[in-house]
Amino acid sequence: MPVHAPSVAIVGSGFGGIAAAIALLRDGITDLTIFEKADDLGGVWRENTYPGAACDVPSHVYSYSYFQHRDWSRPCSPHDEIHDYLKEAADAFGVTPRIRFSTEVTRATWDEQALRWQLELGDGTTAQADVLVPACGQLSIPTQPAIPGADTFAGHQFHSARWDHDHDLTGRNVAVIGTGASAVQFVPSVAEQAGHLDVFQRTPNYMLPRRNLAYAAPVRAAIRHVPGLQTARRGGMLLMMEAMVNALKGNRAIGAVLRTMSWALLHRHVRDRELRRKLTPQFAYGCKRILFSSYYYPALTRKNVELVDTPITQITADAVVTSDGVQHPADTIIWGTGFDTQAFVAPMEIVGAGGRTIADAWAGGAHAFYGLTVPGFPNMFLLYGPNTNLGVGSIIVMLEAQARYIADAVRRLRAQDGPAAWDVREDVERAFDAQTQEHLQQSVWTQCASWYRNEAGRVVNNWPGYMFEYVRATKALNPGHYTLLRAEARSSSDEAVSA
Ligand code: NAP
Repeated sequence: MPVHAPSVAIVGSGFGGIAAAIALLRDGITDLTIFEKADDLGGVWRENTYPGAACDVPSHVYSYSYFQHRDWSRPCSPHDEIHDYLKEAADAFGVTPRIRFSTEVTRATWDEQALRWQLELGDGTTAQADVLVPACGQLSIPTQPAIPGADTFAGHQFHSARWDHDHDLTGRNVAVIGTGASAVQFVPSVAEQAGHLDVFQRTPNYMLPRRNLAYAAPVRAAIRHVPGLQTARRGGMLLMMEAMVNALKGNRAIGAVLRTMSWALLHRHVRDRELRRKLTPQFAYGCKRILFSSYYYPALTRKNVELVDTPITQITADAVVTSDGVQHPADTIIWGTGFDTQAFVAPMEIVGAGGRTIADAWAGGAHAFYGLTVPGFPNMFLLYGPNTNLGVGSIIVMLEAQARYIADAVRRLRAQDGPAAWDVREDVERAFDAQTQEHLQQSVWTQCASWYRNEAGRVVNNWPGYMFEYVRATKALNPGHYTLLRAEARSSSDEAVSA
């Protein structure tokens, strides 16, 4: 029986938070609570319900390695299928009863005496935990650019991550602003409903084909019943993704194949030369996220759709105005303008040792040891933290590795003879960050502006290597990388747990 059983507070119940809870529970660490601000689990798969929302990473790899679902309806599953899968996983591993729904953690403060996190909750109450695991995602805070006049728009407007399903688009004059991964998924559906659709593009993206047809019954049956087929498919897909990483690392042959596929897709679907010109990217392949759709370009060629690439200058009560003075009438604006990708834990405030906030620590751009730990924030382990996003690959692979690392850290705390805390050494984190940034300097991501970089040009979001390199490097916590803080023994009343 351990002398001290650490309590764990996880913030967020998306793929990351659930993965952490599963890893901890599998290690017998049962004193854990997931705080979830919404009334349902699911993270981005709860929030993004726009028409056509689907993962563009195949479900056989966009799923936990230890909880393989054998009956996906199609290669890249729609959001509700993924959301259901995550709920099933949470139920199967006993996570669901440990989620405190409708409870937002507004502030977490490190108590240096007690070696414990003090949590302030949205309902005005408090909680405590030995270990804090922010699992807030990188794509959870929708953003909308400050375009003059947007607040004077008299029609209806909403962000793609807050889709208003009660607003019927049939016959309407719709303006879609933004042409990223979300927009290319919902534009084909909006184009079918709208009377007229203007798609406002600032930068064209590279696209690869994806028809994503439902599996034929025999294929579906084979995946279900042929032993090893699912595992082999998963392995093959992961290998293919790692091969594509080569293109981002400058492999010319693979880059040329992918570029040719994108070029062919554009030429096959867009006959009009002017439209093709507008859709042709002028930046290095892979610098921004490569998009996948076989339906987006055809949607733009419809009679009721116009692609506008002149910059927007203003929004009026009933139009979007571009710099050439043209007023584009609209009664609905859909903002497909992405997310605040670099706040990582916001709007939660985190105050570490010496009263230093995480916002201060990250003033020049967020950084963390393998995206997991930050000096001066003991016993805080981030999921999907800085420099852990992938240009190509399955984020679930990264999240599983992080969850396993966190479970290892907590297991080692449990083996101590009293309260203790891991504080990553500043020199270790600094050296890791310098090396990561050096690798990133050689990547394609430094060659254009994207949500991976901050205004100073630092690549804040992405991991520079292969998935397998990250998994190998985070297999276990190396105590040499950390200072182990110890506290005076607590009174027994202090030992009461997280929430
Ligand atoms: P995004 O990729 O950040 O795209 C935002 C779009 O808004 C871009 O086209 C951007 O143009 C445009 N924009 C921003 N400010 C603008 C302005 N002032 N005027 C005009 N246009 C403006 O956001 P997202 O499409 O929501 O996707 C975010 C990420 O979510 C993706 O990269 C992906 O990782 C993830 N996602 C994944 C899936 C999936 O299938 N797994 C699906 C959807 C989203 P610029 O390019 O010029 O900045």
